[in-house]
Amino acid sequence: MAKGNKGCAVGIDLGTTFSCVGAWLHQESRVEIITNQQGKRTTPSVVAFTNTDILIGEAARNQAATNAENTIFGAKRLIGRKCSDPTVKNDCKTLPFKVVANSDDEPKFVVNHQFEEKKFTAESISSKIVKHMGEIATGFMEQAVKKAVITVPAHFNDSQRQATKRAAARAGLDVLRIVNEPTAAAIAYGLYKRANSVEERNIFVFDFGGGTLDVSLLAIKHNVFIVKATSGDTHLGGEDFNNNLLNHFMKRFNTKHNKDMSKDPRALSRLRAECERVKQDLSFSKEVNVHVDALFQGIDFSDKITQAKFEDLNKELFENCKKIVEKCFIDAKIERSSVHDVVLVGGSSRIPKVKQILQEFFPAKAIHNSINPDEAIAHGAAYLAAMLNGDIKNAPQLVLSDVNPLSFGTNTRGDVMDVLIPRNTPIPVTKTMEYVTVKDDQTAIRFKVYEGERKKASENNLLGSVRLTGLPSAPRGYEVKLTYTIDENGILSACLMDKKTNKKCNLVITEDDKGKLSTDEIAEMIESAEIFKDEDEEHVKKAKARNALDDYVYEMEKALKDNHVSSKLSSEDKGKIKHAIDEAKKVIGAKLDEQDKSVYKDHLKAVKSVFEPIKKKIG
Ligand code: ADP
Ligand code: MG
Repeated sequence: MAKGNKGCAVGIDLGTTFSCVGAWLHQESRVEIITNQQGKRTTPSVVAFTNTDILIGEAARNQAATNAENTIFGAKRLIGRKCSDPTVKNDCKTLPFKVVANSDDEPKFVVNHQFEEKKFTAESISSKIVKHMGEIATGFMEQAVKKAVITVPAHFNDSQRQATKRAAARAGLDVLRIVNEPTAAAIAYGLYKRANSVEERNIFVFDFGGGTLDVSLLAIKHNVFIVKATSGDTHLGGEDFNNNLLNHFMKRFNTKHNKDMSKDPRALSRLRAECERVKQDLSFSKEVNVHVDALFQGIDFSDKITQAKFEDLNKELFENCKKIVEKCFIDAKIERSSVHDVVLVGGSSRIPKVKQILQEFFPAKAIHNSINPDEAIAHGAAYLAAMLNGDIKNAPQLVLSDVNPLSFGTNTRGDVMDVLIPRNTPIPVTKTMEYVTVKDDQTAIRFKVYEGERKKASENNLLGSVRLTGLPSAPRGYEVKLTYTIDENGILSACLMDKKTNKKCNLVITEDDKGKLSTDEIAEMIESAEIFKDEDEEHVKKAKARNALDDYVYEMEKALKDNHVSSKLSSEDKGKIKHAIDEAKKVIGAKLDEQDKSVYKDHLKAVKSVFEPIKKKIG
């Protein structure tokens, strides 16, 4: 008997390490998380190639130790990204399988399948996983699953989202929506029901999975979801705890038996599997026994570990979690006290210390973790899928919105970045700034459109420029208006307008022009802004000092040109002023990078000492 209606729609959480599928049970009016053939509710995001088969999920993971070079995991890290991306390069160094670039700089996994070398993109690996999840659901629903909502991290850029969507389409699914993982988690908890149309409800989602930590701040107001900020670490997750445990037990074994098992892959793989079990058990017991039969050279390994020791071994990981949470609030410029709900998802959020850290960070706040943390995202996605498929009566119309991950700005005098739309601004959005010409009779003006966080404009990513020519002849200070707009699809457009004549220059920048910055490139840009903060601030100070000198010199020039003022000046004073202007202009004309800030300040003092007494004299 069919358990759904109108063709079945499911929600798929396509995770870095585990995937999960859920469906709405029409008759029971609830979401069911569907178990795989092994009876597990989550399925490893692993695809393995052998001489006879393509294995997916549990079966693939179980043979990983003996077929490492043909067992692909973590495809989500590479999807929609380029091989030249520095972190793709970095990731590939430690992978047990081969990754090469195709002619489009797209990463491809190289495997041996049926005695032949074959290459697969991350998109096609993900597609196999999505298809497998669809089949798990089809088996349970007793009808073909045709439609799905697929989740992606909130920080995924357009190219990563598009690639995920294509992966699902290749798996034969009609994608109802690509939805942000934290949004799906908030939907799972029905948090939109608590939001009203007057007040915004702030939700903090902490998603701690197998290989990544993603934290997001959402706001809900009258069924509109907005991602206000995201932060995270693409290399912090459950596997790091396993690594620390593995090293700890390996040392204990080696010391106790005076051996070195570190070069034995089979022993390592068996000890790692035991570490995974021990870690999971430590989330529920204060002390856990460890045992591996004939671990190395026939020697059994027996040990135990307490929760306290586990926390001590992973101190640094917990510290990093805290820092990431803090950063999210700094970015969003929101007080943590204004958070209404905290949602914990991802398998690693089961670790008691993680819960404790969050409880301490949000005292007296309700922490939602009643839904299995590794199922909550699929749960929300399944609910949304049913809603979009018209399976739920009186379902609210949820609107899911987004933020821009990097700031958009322009260059102003002295290569200083002026930000029009700061990063993490909810889109769609429009911002306008007014600028003025810097020279007399300036007939053309150009603004470069940059994205990035550096204060020195030219260090940011140049997207294009807008230019107006044929400005009327006027003294400097002639006004123009620069407007940036980001529409709901994340497309930026810039418009430069002459305020007097309304003459315009338009520029539309699509995702393609943006160079499809990957998540890590975005993270890198944000990080480099941090690294170069002092240097950039020095640059801004220097530019300001030069601008101040330039402004003052302009005033002196104006005085000379103004007949009324000029007639009062003695020829000696005129000569002095002219000389001072010429000297200052040499300094102003020199390259900013090659000058010291004090040069501008000293020159300003020097020209002032000439011009101020003259000004006083003539009144
Ligand atoms: P993904 O990163 O793919 O979204 P999940 O959210 O399913 O993955 O999280 C998987 C991680 O959760 C794994 O590293 C697993 O070891 C960890 N995990 C699962 N159960 C527990 C538990 N009881 N205690 C600690 N960690 C757990
Ligand atoms: Mg996940």
